[in-house]
Amino acid sequence: MGLGSLFKRNKKDKKEEKVDESHIDIDIGSCDGCEKCVVACSNNVFMLVDETCSVRDHQVCRNCKVCMAICPNDCITVN
Ligand code: SF4
Ligand code: SF4
Repeated sequence: MGLGSLFKRNKKDKKEEKVDESHIDIDIGSCDGCEKCVVACSNNVFMLVDETCSVRDHQVCRNCKVCMAICPNDCITVN
């Protein structure tokens, strides 16, 4: 009687996929609607609404922080 058949390998690797969710805060009181963030963000996260920056879609942000660097009024915080 072979014991080998009694041992079964259970190779279930449950990899937890971490989704990097960025959180974007905009200080709209300081925003002058220059649109630099809208142009600079390659993922089209921002849009202007009534000449003020607004987040169109948080989920497409890749956390590159280019918007933070480019905003002349330091309105944007990404973390
Ligand atoms: S961190 Fe990068 S991807 Fe996210 S909103 Fe700013 S520029 Fe766009
Ligand atoms: S770059 Fe800054 S000031 Fe210009 S639209 Fe974006 S948040 Fe407003």
